Amino acid sequence: MKILVVLTGGTISMVRNPKSGALHPADTETFRAFVPELFAQDIKVDMLPFTPLIDSSDIKPEDWSKMAHTIYEHYDQYDGFVILHGTDTMAYSASALSFMLHNLSKPVVFTGSQLPVGVLRSDAKENLLTAVEIAAAVNEKGRSMVPEVCLFFKEKLYRGNRSTKKNAEYFEAFESFNYPCLAKAGVHIDFRDSLIHQADNLPLEIWDKLDSNMAVLKIFPGITRAVVHAVLSTPNLKGVVLETYGAGNAPSFEWLYEELKEAVDRGIAIVNKTQCETGSVEMGRYEVSMNLLKAGVLSGRDITTEALLTKMMYLFGRYGDDLKKIKQMLQVSLVGEMD
Ligand code: ASP
Repeated sequence: MKILVVLTGGTISMVRNPKSGALHPADTETFRAFVPELFAQDIKVDMLPFTPLIDSSDIKPEDWSKMAHTIYEHYDQYDGFVILHGTDTMAYSASALSFMLHNLSKPVVFTGSQLPVGVLRSDAKENLLTAVEIAAAVNEKGRSMVPEVCLFFKEKLYRGNRSTKKNAEYFEAFESFNYPCLAKAGVHIDFRDSLIHQADNLPLEIWDKLDSNMAVLKIFPGITRAVVHAVLSTPNLKGVVLETYGAGNAPSFEWLYEELKEAVDRGIAIVNKTQCETGSVEMGRYEVSMNLLKAGVLSGRDITTEALLTKMMYLFGRYGDDLKKIKQMLQVSLVGEMD
């Protein structure tokens, strides 16, 4: 088995400068020296570092295109891919790649670490070695166990577009609140086949043009019309993730309805996403969500903000002005991102 490890940056790629004590990205040789086990097993691993290595807070849609192209260009030479990435935006990148890579029949596993590879107590080795093992795992027919974009962190493998960073301190940094994990790694790696998407055996295709004219608007008690108006009148705005309360509720003020309706009438897609970690939007369940329905706001059901935002970037990048099609696709699951 051959696995390509793509190093994009993040804490996992960092080592401490012995003189200054500061953390900085390691070069590939230094990185290799910290994880010799990676290159001393049956699985053959090649490493491809991006230049420059970046902190994932600096990630842009162009970096996602670069990742998608890297996988596409090396697809036939490798059995699976591991993307080493900073944890801060890993869930956004994994979500974006899930929409950009079509007909995947090999795993693309994102991972990273909370402590740098060069620190004694680091979780880097464990995450990296298990991610590689998962990327190389095949069933009795020789097919990949997880032909999906996924994210491995501290014992659990999540569907990429269902994951969210939940913790800045502890090693269990990610969660998939609305979908069970795809595999659990203990003494053995326990894959949950019935939850994993099965490959269709079609040729891999990529879509690399994303439209980032999006906004996330979080409702809070006391939010003013001026704030809502300012967001919705952003030049070139195409889509809005509207983060609401509970089952998709928002204040029933007439001005909020007017602002939302006016934006929807101007062709902006507004999708309702609950601020709760777990559960789903159910517009119409409470009176306070009726105005959203009437204004033409769509339901994001149980999708994450990361997945909804990148799905809109993908749909507007791909289908441009065909708003009817975009709205229709926003309400169905394309790659297992919602129920
Ligand atoms: N700021 C870092 C990054 O996202 C944090 C990490 O990797 O854990 O690149």
